Amino acid sequence: MLRLTDIKLPLDHPEEALTAAIRAKLHVGASAIRGYSVFRRGYDARKRGAIQLIYTLDVDVADEDKLLVRFADDPHVRQTPDTNYQFVAKAPSVFSRDIPVTESESQKSAIHGRTPQKHPHRPVVIGLGPCGLFAGLLLAQMGFRPIILERGKAVRERTKDTWDLWRKRNLHPESNVQFGEGGAGTFSDGKLYSQISDPKHYGRKVLTEFVKAGAPEEIIYVSKPHIGTFRLVTMVENMRNTIEALGGEIRFEHRVDDLQVETDADGVRYVRGVTLANGEQIRTDHVVLALGHSARDTVAMLHQRDVYLEAKPFSIGFRVEHPQSMVDRDRFGSQAGHPLLGAADYKLVHHCRNGRSVYSFCMCPGGTVVAATSEPGRVVTNGMSQYSRNERNANAAIVVGIEPNDFAPYDSSGSPLAGIALQRELESRAFDLGGGTYEAPGQLIGDFLAGKASTVLGDIMPSYKPGVHLTDLSTALPDYAVEAIREAMPAFDRKIKGFARADAIFTGVETRTSSPVRIRRNDDDLQSLNTRGLFPAGEGAGYAGGILSAGVDGIRVAEAVALSITQQEVHA
Ligand code: FAD
Repeated sequence: MLRLTDIKLPLDHPEEALTAAIRAKLHVGASAIRGYSVFRRGYDARKRGAIQLIYTLDVDVADEDKLLVRFADDPHVRQTPDTNYQFVAKAPSVFSRDIPVTESESQKSAIHGRTPQKHPHRPVVIGLGPCGLFAGLLLAQMGFRPIILERGKAVRERTKDTWDLWRKRNLHPESNVQFGEGGAGTFSDGKLYSQISDPKHYGRKVLTEFVKAGAPEEIIYVSKPHIGTFRLVTMVENMRNTIEALGGEIRFEHRVDDLQVETDADGVRYVRGVTLANGEQIRTDHVVLALGHSARDTVAMLHQRDVYLEAKPFSIGFRVEHPQSMVDRDRFGSQAGHPLLGAADYKLVHHCRNGRSVYSFCMCPGGTVVAATSEPGRVVTNGMSQYSRNERNANAAIVVGIEPNDFAPYDSSGSPLAGIALQRELESRAFDLGGGTYEAPGQLIGDFLAGKASTVLGDIMPSYKPGVHLTDLSTALPDYAVEAIREAMPAFDRKIKGFARADAIFTGVETRTSSPVRIRRNDDDLQSLNTRGLFPAGEGAGYAGGILSAGVDGIRVAEAVALSITQQEVHA
């Protein structure tokens, strides 16, 4: 197969134009082309009136070797790489039998004459977000029968609890936008792209598994795939069924509250098990920590257990809403509304005079702003959409990057958890500014720029549920962040006409853009810097930022766990 990149065709080209483009590129006749498939389809919208589709094609062609020689100097003609996923290990046969997992089961098997220590323990995955889902799936596919512990509920029940906050202001602290089956990305836009370097094509494995679980096939080849919330719910359930059919075990409403750590004579620390909120202990030597960025209690526990953590930069800001039609018109001109383009997105960045950078984040075309707190008495915004992306408003976070020295003062003990202290303070302040009823504090952009409180909405209706309380957001963030956003909005308006229009609306606060801590791990075996058998993973550990990259990290960590177990078996 040959891979041809950068094949450009007009937006409304007929199907045959692809074959014609292949023939023209390779200078071959029609009979030489045995078939082709689209590996990727993107678009170039820089010239608004003349948007072009850009294809990467895999072509089955006669005389491939000769063509490779002929096009050796052309970077757009290459052999198609093998992107099929290969498992790195297979579980030893002992994993196909029942292995005791609790202390009492271990004792029972000892009483019956078996020596429990000789059993390898099943790996434990904490968290069933995209990272835990893929770590669990891969471990199950390799035969390791993982035990997956998730503090929240199964996705259908979780959906009801989440809507209970949005509709009736009832927050369920263990079952909400952040916690429960599918993790933080379940009620989202389901954007599935990432800028991570992925030389082993793990992203392809993630997308392929999503398609098997019910995602539309196009996610494999469009350049900016998204799934939307409704489909994600069904997909997550299907993946759970696959893991269970392969012998994995998933336990909902099972929060891990403690780790058992042993230190050997050389001072090396090993994880030996986990303790659940209900007091149950599970023996294991391999724990994947796929906690997400909102498990503040669990991170505090890790800190108490001396697991190596460090503060890391993250971002804070507001969510902005505009009419989607305004963004579509600006990006696509007369071709706005074309089915191959869908609702337009944007990505903006502005470097401010005060040294801060302001950027758009997690843009949700045709979506809604959602209440995303997991803690009582706090307000946090985020965005989601359905697959159709046909809601009236476009929304995106407009955030300012902050560094550990910005938030160190929020925790006088000098702990790496200072970022969490800042997040909590801002989220509590937002709750108060919103009137103390889980409404989000909001302000029109015109008023925000003029430095006066908003009292009345303009043409744009905010979508946040349970509601928006108009106020003055200038005290919702530290002064440097407010100053930076005030400078950035007119600059963004020069890039997208109307971006700083007076009736565009901010709601706040955006604080959970990424984890404020990194649970550091070794680069080679992906185990915690100071605790063997502990595999920090995904967004909460600071190794992913989004659904796709969290899934990819889950695969990497599953491989590391599998290799660690099989190598221990070899040496046993
Ligand atoms: P999470 O998804 O956060 O999952 C962690 C899981 O661990 C949770 O289910 C939690 O309940 C569980 N857990 C935590 N502590 C414990 C414990 N002690 N015991 C047991 N279980 C525990 N990203 C995109 O790429 N595209 C988008 O369109 C997008 N939109 C988003 C919209 C919203 C509203 C939100 C909140 C996030 C969005 N994101 C999006 C970000 C994305 O969801 C996260 O990057 C991703 O989910 C991180 O995956 P993860 O598995 O590392 O963590």
